[in-house]
Amino acid sequence: MPYFICPNCQTRSFDEDGHEGLSHQSVGCHVCGFGFVFQLLEDYFPRSGNGFVVCDNEARILAAGKGLFEVTGRQEASIIGQNVLVGVGLTFPAGEDPVGMALEWGVRQLDKPAVLQHAVGIEKRVICDVFPAYDADGGLLIAVAPA
Ligand SMILES: [Zn+2]
Repeated sequence: MPYFICPNCQTRSFDEDGHEGLSHQSVGCHVCGFGFVFQLLEDYFPRSGNGFVVCDNEARILAAGKGLFEVTGRQEASIIGQNVLVGVGLTFPAGEDPVGMALEWGVRQLDKPAVLQHAVGIEKRVICDVFPAYDADGGLLIAVAPA
């Protein structure tokens, strides 16, 4: 049974086929009204203070959840379309590329430490979890939480 999580409000849910009713529209969030929920292979419990960002299959930012601003100081409107590492301000240790790994191999990358360049200029240590999308378009969900 697939699990889903709302990139905006982080509400978890599950659904038998990822569609609802007879219309076969993609499932939106029943709690906050966000336009879609992200499918996960296994259930996931976000860390406290977590923010989500959703990317396309070239790691460009499509949407940011409401938690992302609290972690990064960056507003969704200012980072849409940017490469996720640039837009969010993430630097992974040399040789670590969990975003590329998830895109290329389609496997989740958990507990990846990174340095976040906060919008106000300070550096913060964060922990990232990266989830590949399972739909035809591909893409990613990245969770960013204070370390
Ligand atoms: Zn929601």
